[in-house]
Amino acid sequence: MRETITLECTVCKNRNYTTTRNKKKHQDRLEIKKFCKTCRKHTPHKEIK
Ligand SMILES: [Zn+2]
Repeated sequence: MRETITLECTVCKNRNYTTTRNKKKHQDRLEIKKFCKTCRKHTPHKEIK
């Protein structure tokens, strides 16, 4: 079962990305480095609800 999640920039709190994940395999909150166009650099993006 896959779930759509939203990724939020931890610096500016912009919601830049959505992705899907396997809920069973990934119990923990995702944190991925992505390019934030607001910060204009790569920042850690965290899963939000
Ligand atoms: Zn940002």
